[in-house]
Amino acid sequence: MKLHEHQAKEVFARYGIPVPDGKVAFSLKEAKQVAEELGEFPLVVKAQVHCGGRGKAGGVKIVKDMDELEKAVEGMLGKVLKTFQCPDGKPVNRVWIEKATAIDKEFYLSITLDRARSKPVLMASAAGGMEIEEIAKENPEAIIIEEIDPELGLMPYQARKLAFKLGLPVKDFSKMALALYKIYTDLDASLVEINPLVLDKEGRVIALDAKLEVDDNALFRHKDIEEMEDETQISPLEVEAKKYGLNYIKLSGNIGCMVNGAGLAMATMDIIKLAGGEPANFLDVGGGANVEQIANAFRILMADEDVKAVFINIFGGILRCDRLAQGLVEAGKMVELSVPIVVRMEGTNVEEGKKILAESGMNFVNAEDMWDGARKAVDLAQKGS
Ligand code: ADP
Ligand code: MG
Repeated sequence: MKLHEHQAKEVFARYGIPVPDGKVAFSLKEAKQVAEELGEFPLVVKAQVHCGGRGKAGGVKIVKDMDELEKAVEGMLGKVLKTFQCPDGKPVNRVWIEKATAIDKEFYLSITLDRARSKPVLMASAAGGMEIEEIAKENPEAIIIEEIDPELGLMPYQARKLAFKLGLPVKDFSKMALALYKIYTDLDASLVEINPLVLDKEGRVIALDAKLEVDDNALFRHKDIEEMEDETQISPLEVEAKKYGLNYIKLSGNIGCMVNGAGLAMATMDIIKLAGGEPANFLDVGGGANVEQIANAFRILMADEDVKAVFINIFGGILRCDRLAQGLVEAGKMVELSVPIVVRMEGTNVEEGKKILAESGMNFVNAEDMWDGARKAVDLAQKGS
């Protein structure tokens, strides 16, 4: 789950990480009140959306009086902000207003899990302000990586070493890096990022931006974080999928996929691409999905207008193929099957399953194996669009 910048900054402040004085506002009236409370200009108005790159897209505005503040807020609230990270845009329903910082230099700092190293890593760079992907591409040696031993946590000497390399005040930077790691572990975060972390003209280290993503699987023990969810930032189908415990991510292609097990889901997306198609989503109903989950997943797939064909790729283990087929037929009676549905199943009771689908009189296309299924789905999607 992603948090807004203002929520992440509130967490940062609780852990003693310096952030500019600021407050969130949901309306122009509130925004003006916040400006009064903060007391002095220049202020910075920042659109709160779940995507980076706001600065370049007009989502971060420095204002020097009430008139400018009003214009900036009106230009953001109620609008959709598109950035290079979110080409379709995200709705702006709140702005964060904070004091402007006199920046001397911008840095990058983050902690995330490095799956290849099987450890959290601290990443830092003096090439701040830029997106880390850009730095990695153009100037990879500018990224300093510090592996963190999960048994020991981030050690103070590691933070000090980094401070020296970056040329930042050692004590203040170390405190900040250690606090960031504490947030990472306390909140079961998958990412904490400060970009830019700045050194201001008076030599202070400040987090000017804040990104915090918490592992969905750990939300049950962070109710306060879970309550911060802003559903307007996720696609409505994703919100619905979450309700049913389905692992669904909307993508930009036209082949709807329904798969059980994350590994099979990845393989299915790969094979669709290999066959020349583009998946419309990632949907893992889980290794032990029941008929009800299948039906819900099916409904969510059919509700996506981009979907021109569906590829169901199921391994019948805990969920037997005949039960799956019954579930599909049941679900098919409830939702209109407006696009062709290719079904590849394998495993327990596969023959019974195929028979049920064939006798249903519904629009199911049988696939012999994964490759056959992918090719048929790609072909049908092309004809459909
Ligand atoms: P994004 O990453 O979405 O573009 P940031 O919060 O990083 O948004 O802001 C973009 C840029 O705007 C920063 O790199 C910084 O130069 C400037 N900026 C942001 N907040 C402030 C602030 N409080 N004072 C001065 N400049 C700021
Ligand atoms: Mg930023």
